[in-house]
Amino acid sequence: MTITGTTKLAGVIGWPVEHSRSPLLHNHWCASHDIDGAYVPLPVPPGSLDVALRGLQVAGFRGVNVTIPHKEDAFRFVDRKTQSALRAGAVNTIVFEDDGTTTGDCTDGKGFLANLHAHDVGKSRHAMILGAGGAARAVAAALLDSGCRITIANRTLQRAIALRDALKGGEVVEWDAWPGQLASCDLLVNATSLGLGGSAGYDWSGSLSGAAPDLIVSDVVYAPLMTPLLQAARMRDLKIVDGLGMLIQQARAGFNAWFGILPQVDDTARALLLHSLNGN
Ligand code: NDP
Repeated sequence: MTITGTTKLAGVIGWPVEHSRSPLLHNHWCASHDIDGAYVPLPVPPGSLDVALRGLQVAGFRGVNVTIPHKEDAFRFVDRKTQSALRAGAVNTIVFEDDGTTTGDCTDGKGFLANLHAHDVGKSRHAMILGAGGAARAVAAALLDSGCRITIANRTLQRAIALRDALKGGEVVEWDAWPGQLASCDLLVNATSLGLGGSAGYDWSGSLSGAAPDLIVSDVVYAPLMTPLLQAARMRDLKIVDGLGMLIQQARAGFNAWFGILPQVDDTARALLLHSLNGN
């Protein structure tokens, strides 16, 4: 890659940001589409998002992705928000417009739905969503807005209630009660950080004992790819959808806005990320 004065620039702002696989993915897409572009990790500490965004805008960046812990500050920063950002209450993709304004989108929910679609999963009727953090909110909003009935369970009940109230839809069950409600669901989404890093610490197998045979089990956690939940689901012969596809799908809209091409989700991108996640 040769960077010149005409190279289109974008990046990801986070704190920390070293772990982000977004530079790998976007630079792969730039190379495979022969685009004169570059995407860089941008470590920005909490409290400094505004000054960083203004600086990048002045320096000619096309836009940025925003990750932990800046998604809510980014929501407050942008001049206009997409409907998805408004529903998610967060922004993960910012476009610096030619007129000097900024547009914020949240692509996690759409990425989640697109990943289900890519796995030939049809429209869900009733989803059980575990979690009430940022990922859960984006997934819950996308499913609800697609016409799906949703039930939310979260370790901290109050946060599940707050999420339901913010979305103005859905039902809430206590954390210990969700396995008992699974029989009526055709989709289970783990949108908690349970399973991150492969940590067990939860009886997924027992919790799935009441699942209908056609339950689709999905996890937003993608490191490891086969999370403890997905392993338990596979043992029960349930169809599974891992979180890596969501990660790739949610990146496409930003790439399109900054570099002008909507990239396809191919096996090469997936293999590249898997290779990196496996520590190679
Ligand atoms: P948040 O910190 O906002 O939320 C974490 C959630 O996990 C909360 O609901 C929390 O419950 C719950 N939780 C944490 N520990 C436990 C536990 N021991 N038992 C039960 N529940 C627990 O994180 P995010 O929503 O931003 O991210 C969640 C996961 O989603 C992360 O692993 C992240 O990497 C992944 N993610 C994946 C994406 C993808 O593209 N595949 C996109 C975005 C995120 P409580 O409220 O009680 O604390």
